[in-house]
Amino acid sequence: MLNRLSHYLGIILVILFVFCADSCKRRHINFPHKKQWVECSTCNGTGILIVQCRECDGSGKLECEDCEGEGEEDCAMCWGTGRRACSECSGKGLEQCSNCRGVGIDSWGNRCIYCGGIGYEECDNCGGSGYERCSNCLGSGNEECLTCHGTGEVDCDNCNGYGKVRVSCWDCDGEGGRME
Ligand SMILES: [Zn+2]
Ligand SMILES: [Zn+2]
Ligand SMILES: [Zn+2]
Ligand SMILES: [Zn+2]
Ligand SMILES: [Zn+2]
Ligand SMILES: [Zn+2]
Repeated sequence: MLNRLSHYLGIILVILFVFCADSCKRRHINFPHKKQWVECSTCNGTGILIVQCRECDGSGKLECEDCEGEGEEDCAMCWGTGRRACSECSGKGLEQCSNCRGVGIDSWGNRCIYCGGIGYEECDNCGGSGYERCSNCLGSGNEECLTCHGTGEVDCDNCNGYGKVRVSCWDCDGEGGRME
């Protein structure tokens, strides 16, 4: 009984094997040119290439438009002149004479010897020029460009300063490969 069962089992296994082998063979014959996914060698199958940014030629930087690459702008406090109206004399260059309080005569009724009778004397702060050095730019007339912080350059916005950009692979149209 057991012997007979193993005999049948053996036959079933043989039939299965033959059927399987035949079907495998047939499949192979029916599809001799079965298509395969071939990875793109240009992008190693990623579909993406990293190339130099054309906007900045790979430097990642562009000239600052606000200061034309100078890194400096005209001082906003003095309009680039480097000087401002004297804060002591409001730009007049003269101050009221401290000796005669501007009347030109002293308490004795004589002409004031400090101002020569005109009631004004040269402003100490500006030496009579009416101007003082701009405190914002220390007289240079320029101040650091706020846009580029004085560097004259800004990050390229095309590549965010990396100098390289990711583009879709031109060999596989970004697919990463193709069926062949
Ligand atoms: Zn590719
Ligand atoms: Zn005086
Ligand atoms: Zn002054
Ligand atoms: Zn200034
Ligand atoms: Zn700038
Ligand atoms: Zn760039």
